[in-house]
Amino acid sequence: MRRIRTSVIVVGGGPVGLGLAVTLGKAGIPCVVVERRTEPAAIPKGQNLTARSLEHFYFWDCAEELRAARPLPRGFPIGGITAYESLAGDYWYAPAGREAVGDFYYQRHERLPQYLTEAVLRGRVRDVSCVRALFGWSATSVCQDSDGVRVTAARDADGDRCEIAGSYVVGCDGARSMVRDQAGIPSGGADFNQRMVLAVFRSADLDARLERFPPRTTYRVLHPELAGYWWFFGRVDGAGTWFFHAPVPVSAGAASDVDVDVDALIERAAGSAVACAFQYVGFWDLRVNVADTYRQGRVFIAGDSAHSHPPYGAYGLNTGLEDAVNLGWKLSAVLTGWGKPALLDSYTQERRPIFVETGEAITDGIAKDRAFLARYSPRRDRGEFEQAWRSLTAGDTAPPWYEPHYEGSPIVWGRPGAACSARGQHTFEARAGHHLAPVSLSSGRDIFEELGRWHTLVALTRDRAPVASFQAAAGRLGMPLRVLTDTFAEQRTAYERRFILVRPDQYVAWAGDEPPADALVILRRVVGDVGQ
Ligand SMILES: Cc1cc2nc3c(=O)[nH]c(=O)nc-3n(C[C@H](O)[C@H](O)[C@H](O)COP(=O)(O)OP(=O)(O)OC[C@H]3O[C@@H](n4cnc5c(N)ncnc54)[C@H](O)[C@@H]3O)c2cc1C
Repeated sequence: MRRIRTSVIVVGGGPVGLGLAVTLGKAGIPCVVVERRTEPAAIPKGQNLTARSLEHFYFWDCAEELRAARPLPRGFPIGGITAYESLAGDYWYAPAGREAVGDFYYQRHERLPQYLTEAVLRGRVRDVSCVRALFGWSATSVCQDSDGVRVTAARDADGDRCEIAGSYVVGCDGARSMVRDQAGIPSGGADFNQRMVLAVFRSADLDARLERFPPRTTYRVLHPELAGYWWFFGRVDGAGTWFFHAPVPVSAGAASDVDVDVDALIERAAGSAVACAFQYVGFWDLRVNVADTYRQGRVFIAGDSAHSHPPYGAYGLNTGLEDAVNLGWKLSAVLTGWGKPALLDSYTQERRPIFVETGEAITDGIAKDRAFLARYSPRRDRGEFEQAWRSLTAGDTAPPWYEPHYEGSPIVWGRPGAACSARGQHTFEARAGHHLAPVSLSSGRDIFEELGRWHTLVALTRDRAPVASFQAAAGRLGMPLRVLTDTFAEQRTAYERRFILVRPDQYVAWAGDEPPADALVILRRVVGDVGQ
């Protein structure tokens, strides 16, 4: 049996595992990715990438490559249409898309099938020298003791086996995570007992049918019979490739998937028969699942392994990529030596509440749609229905309240008593625990182009003394700190603070208009020295 020694073992090289590997590798942390697939699965899920996710790709040095891989024509509007009863019906609206919050991010959102995203990340991983990717290998067991972790893996093609030893292991191995199970991490959530069909097909016919709407990428249909679940079409490319998902009628039964008449479902959702050439038909279960903790000793879980939910709102992959970045910088800091152990606990403390609230919002959304469809009907009372329909604005894109933040994190200086939450408000003001908004510096460059790999102190002042005290404190803690000074009044107006300490994941750890009395106290908490 071969033996490999590394720092971090990443089980699962889907998008989250690969993103984590690039984050670690760019920080100089050796890691091994074990991924059973030799090629990404050609199913067009995980398509909507938020502006925030594109920031990750920017820092992974492959945002442009990702955009170039987009199969839709450049400029094609990303967003949705919501229709009542069918796409041929009288009632529909186009909810505001993610561009509504676009100015608060350095990158624009993007849309491409997950297998193309994974292909870009696979290419990027090959370029990062600290990362070793074992594609075509399945991890079979994980164990840990106080000194480290060991993963055994087998090559699927020939049964060749290897044992990988490291300091930490991260399970990025999807919703049926072996790592989560072997670490004994319990998980649970709402099971809707609802099977969904996912079909991929070519249809010029459908393209032509949708010309009545402004151009969009997704089309969801609310129908009283569906009890709040959707018929949902999404464009895969500009050449008439589509995916469609729908609740499977109860009469089809879970055991008889083959009996589902997908043509008939598409016909009902579209409003009349549509000529389709099917490429794939599969099924998934509608449920929300979240692990009780994202860490068990030296074992971590991230992405769908830690949390999964129906793809309503396109949060899944985006949430997983944020996990990867959050955990990636903390593991790197601890393995480099300056990060304290509490940094690793803060991963669950920061990330889990975000997912729990997101899962609740999806569940609530289904219940609200169900209640609306039960309460209002144009057949019963057209006037009342039309008034209620006009008041609907939400849909398949992130609502304005979705602004994940870590105000309650033990490693940031958030408001006393605040909690980490998915609910917040987008603003340019620099607030501890929140994502930093982009601004132009007096050089003309954006602040995102100047942020360091580790923490960055942004000092919007000519006064050198506070900067020097931060540098001295960082020196005492062995913590790398980049200093970015600028005196451009515009940034001070936007950020409403003169001093902003930005984390490696572009979240604000501390912000103040006056220098702190003791910079060492500020930095101790930030490096996870929370007992001080
Ligand atoms: C129909 C559909 C549409 C979706 N649309 C969106 C969307 O628009 N936006 C969005 O953000 N999310 C969306 N999602 C969710 C998104 O696809 C997932 O959240 C995403 O795949 C999670 O990535 P991951 O890397 O955590 O897990 P996965 O993609 O499941 O990757 C896990 C990887 O681990 C590997 N693996 C598993 N076990 C082992 C093992 N023992 N050894 C080695 N390798 C192993 C697997 O081969 C796989 O490559 C959608 C999901 C579905 C089903």
